[in-house]
Amino acid sequence: MRNIFRDFLDLFFPYLCVVCRERLSEGEEYICTDCLLLLPTTNFHLQPDNRLEQFFAGRIPFQHIAAYAYFVKGGSIQNIIHELKYNHNSKIGNFIGELCGETIKNSDFISTIDLLVPVPLHPKRQKERGYNQSAEICKGISAKTGIPVDGENLIRKINNPSQTKNARFDRWKNVEDIFSVINKNAFENKHILLVDDVITTGSTLESCAKEILKSEGSKISIYAVGTAG
Ligand SMILES: [Zn+2]
Repeated sequence: MRNIFRDFLDLFFPYLCVVCRERLSEGEEYICTDCLLLLPTTNFHLQPDNRLEQFFAGRIPFQHIAAYAYFVKGGSIQNIIHELKYNHNSKIGNFIGELCGETIKNSDFISTIDLLVPVPLHPKRQKERGYNQSAEICKGISAKTGIPVDGENLIRKINNPSQTKNARFDRWKNVEDIFSVINKNAFENKHILLVDDVITTGSTLESCAKEILKSEGSKISIYAVGTAG
């Protein structure tokens, strides 16, 4: 039944690969096989002291930091993240999260993680978008690793202007103290994987990590779908 329905829909609204915009074949979802194979993955989860760990060194205490793939302007990860954030396509977050989860599930990077925590959106922003894209990514990682998600305990108190629109301003100042942990006990003695869509300046992640680390005995690792560098 589903296939007949899909074929019918496909006549009028063909399912296109979000990267190359070619029509998807049966069995393909969101990204065609060719584009999937060409995703610029980093393998940072297998490389201690990778470029991201060097980037965050001295800013926050962390265990490990990795990203699934390189985010290049006009590249495939940018297309995927754009679809996820601005095209009301929450399911692609789940899909890319599963790719991430599949990639890291048997690695040391994930083996001691207790909880997945998405970088929160301000409630107002989340209401506008209808979902938190990082929480959607977490769902996919959780599906592949079995690690639970806590998307409620770390909250965003201040809805600062979109960082992407303020690229020319100093982004450091407006992320100080904008996050808060509701129940610090829930993070005590936990190794938390903080999950974001893309790592750019890292200032948002740094701010989140500082709040989480106020819980006694907590440890932080960071993972994102994309990294700018
Ligand atoms: Zn494609």
